[in-house]
Amino acid sequence: MNETGIIWTEKTWNPMSGCEKITEGCKFCYALTLAESKRGTPAFPNGFDLTIREHKLREPFRLQDPTLIFANSMSDLFWDKVPDTYRHRIVDVIEQTPQHEYQVLTKRPEALLKFSRERKLPPNFWAGVTVESGRLLERLDILRQVDAEVRYVSAEPLLSSFGDPDLSGIHWVITGGESGSHLYDAAVCERRGLVMYDRSLKKWVLRDDRVQWVRDIRDACIAQGVKFFHKQWGGNYPEASGRILDGRTWNEIPRLPGQRREINNGYLRQLEAKAKPTNTRDGLLFDSVQ
Ligand code: SF4
Repeated sequence: MNETGIIWTEKTWNPMSGCEKITEGCKFCYALTLAESKRGTPAFPNGFDLTIREHKLREPFRLQDPTLIFANSMSDLFWDKVPDTYRHRIVDVIEQTPQHEYQVLTKRPEALLKFSRERKLPPNFWAGVTVESGRLLERLDILRQVDAEVRYVSAEPLLSSFGDPDLSGIHWVITGGESGSHLYDAAVCERRGLVMYDRSLKKWVLRDDRVQWVRDIRDACIAQGVKFFHKQWGGNYPEASGRILDGRTWNEIPRLPGQRREINNGYLRQLEAKAKPTNTRDGLLFDSVQ
């Protein structure tokens, strides 16, 4: 069980690792980059090839407090190479630790739907699907059919407009911009960034037209009663441009384990203290975080 900088969760749990790229959102997969950079080490002996970490399977039983857990941050539970028996063992642990809430996220919604029809998902299993582009909105139609108490969408890295999306049956949407040093490549940044690097100002600035993509999603969430969380604008690292949209942060979450702690609150406070606006124009332009 690991601490994490991912601000919409509290801990990550990786009883396995490894995956294969499937859509455009995967192009700069952080998990692949990390795992392959450590290939051959005790942490990632097989790089990003499938690695079952059975010794981690029972970690949630040892957590003292009810916790919000991002399950499989270094893989995709519904990758077809994951043995079905092991997938079931992971869901067994989720079922047997109802004090925790588990955020499961996949880019393979068809496999998630198939699994959910074969086995009723436990109430603390949040069924999440990444939708990184307006071209992939059909994933929402699949997610809507999954029988889960919480169905959610991660629109990160957000690569194109959703237009005016139908969010019926969805409980939570997270938005976020691409991040990583690859964004210093102007062509890549042009294709994928919600931000651009202003070399004269030496800082990342938001692209107004792409800010509108996030604003449209937020407005759809508000209109349709869906919780909304804006994680980051992105840049060379996730918080490089802060996370303020229209003068404030957006931190809604469907529910918390035990309903008694604020999500990763210490981290959020630390983050916001660092991201000081230097230009109050819509609160949208920020110094890079030191
Ligand atoms: S599905 Fe997720 S974990 Fe798998 S390659 Fe794509 S971004 Fe990486």
